[in-house]
Amino acid sequence: MTVYGGPVFDMAVKQFGVIADHLSIPHDERARLLMPKRAVTVSCPIHRDDGTVAVFEGYRVQHHLTLGPTKGGTRFSTTVDLGEVAALAIWMSWKCALVGLPYGGAKGGIHVDPAALSRTELEALSRRYMQEMIPFVGPHTDVMAPDMGTNEQVMAWFMDTYSMYQGKTVTEIVTGKPVASGGTLGRREATGRGVAYLARRVLALLSVSFTDATAVIQGFGNVGSHTALELAEHGVKIIAVSDHTGALYDPKGLDVPALARHAARHGSIAGFSSELQCDPAGVLTLPCDVLVPAAMERVIDADIAAQLRCRVLAEGANGPTTPEADQVLERRQKEIFVIPDILCNSGGVVVSYFEWVQDLQQLFWEEEEVKQREYRILDRAFDAMVERAKKENISHRTAAMAIGVEKVRAAKTTRGLFP
Ligand code: NAD
Repeated sequence: MTVYGGPVFDMAVKQFGVIADHLSIPHDERARLLMPKRAVTVSCPIHRDDGTVAVFEGYRVQHHLTLGPTKGGTRFSTTVDLGEVAALAIWMSWKCALVGLPYGGAKGGIHVDPAALSRTELEALSRRYMQEMIPFVGPHTDVMAPDMGTNEQVMAWFMDTYSMYQGKTVTEIVTGKPVASGGTLGRREATGRGVAYLARRVLALLSVSFTDATAVIQGFGNVGSHTALELAEHGVKIIAVSDHTGALYDPKGLDVPALARHAARHGSIAGFSSELQCDPAGVLTLPCDVLVPAAMERVIDADIAAQLRCRVLAEGANGPTTPEADQVLERRQKEIFVIPDILCNSGGVVVSYFEWVQDLQQLFWEEEEVKQREYRILDRAFDAMVERAKKENISHRTAAMAIGVEKVRAAKTTRGLFP
């Protein structure tokens, strides 16, 4: 019996099963590695602008406490439930361990459509959520960050609410804050920058010149837009972009900076161009060099995986590829180079870690230093993944997850049963 459930949690369980089999982890050790240490569900009542009271359900899952505090984003979305949050927390653990951060994974969220709230309501809900979480989080216990549907402003409200409760400013309670409130330079761009950096590394490996390359991006929020901007800056043509409102296609390459300005102003790509509109359902299977799913989970199933026409699949989103699709992609390993999510989007948590370190020390770095340190960590993890995959003749995802799971397992083995 478990309180977790649903397709995303099932996916995290299946993926772990593959790794546990590969690493021959005894069955009596598996639940201890996989099942979250703690989960909290809270009710968040707020006054709506019309004077009524609305109650939203919020969650936080802390996967393991073995390597340090837990770390993970907070998602505001109507897809959020305890199972989804638990799966995302588990993935965060393997990700942090893969790139060598002293964290366990966590994730949180509120079941809400943030676009349906006014700014006042969004602030009230953000503050109420953090207030409910105060007994369970802390700079050395659990550190939050942005995810789908949340942003720097929400992090500033979280930090302020926590701080006022403590009677002092505690910037290190969240990462992904505005630079003016203790955030780090380079965090806003970090995830997309990392996705683009790794995609460029693979293009170079495949001897594809950036200026000849094309890319397609699903999702144009924080991760998608910064991936697109960074790739475009290196000469890659972004031929298609989609978000929840529709899709745009231009074989000559979209004007990404203009599109990013439009999306920042209007909240989506809608209204940018009527001539360039295309069917969002076909975006993932367009022929291109780099495909970046940067929106949500489980968008690439076995059927889509068989139809993909990219050379590099750079997973900006968490969990975009189902275990059934993984089996198809394993058969297509020679055609498609997969950069699995736990490596591909890890630039976000890497720079969140830098932000936490800077806040704890009250010593802030130049953006170039942040960027170069991020790239060094990504390079190390990428090399380790590729080497392991070759040596053991396994997929990149299995290699990346095996490295992450092994590190958590080693720490649990030396510490004992408590954490
Ligand atoms: P965001 O809220 O900033 O953007 C999400 C984007 O996805 C929006 O453009 C939205 O319109 C689009 N979208 C939603 N539904 C869609 C659909 N059905 N089809 C196409 N597009 C759709 O969120 P984000 O922070 O960019 O996160 C995106 C993904 O990246 C999530 O899986 C998240 O967990 C992951 N991620 C984010 C970070 C980070 O630093 N923000 C770090 C690591 C991983």
